[in-house]
Amino acid sequence: MQTPLGIKVHKERRIIELQWSDRISELPFRLVRQNCPCAACVNEFTGERILDPDSVPVDIDTLDVGFSGNYALKIKWSDNHDTGLFTWKHLRSLDTAEPNPE
Ligand SMILES: [Zn+2]
Repeated sequence: MQTPLGIKVHKERRIIELQWSDRISELPFRLVRQNCPCAACVNEFTGERILDPDSVPVDIDTLDVGFSGNYALKIKWSDNHDTGLFTWKHLRSLDTAEPNPE
């Protein structure tokens, strides 16, 4: 499993920067929030997305970014959602996602 070598939260650009051994991922806050993997956002049995991506505010912000063990980020969002654990694997997969149209 890839573990980030460094993590920076760029509030002014609304991105989370993850430094991996092979690349740097710059993930927009909104993209990360839209892909929250928690049980309130994704049906844990079917994998179906419950969260409407359009319902995530364009100006979504992070209130707190912390670690969950050594395998994931725990993020508290400005829409008061904080139940998602963003594993390194999940965050890496978001880097190849389609750009988020705004
Ligand atoms: Zn969630």
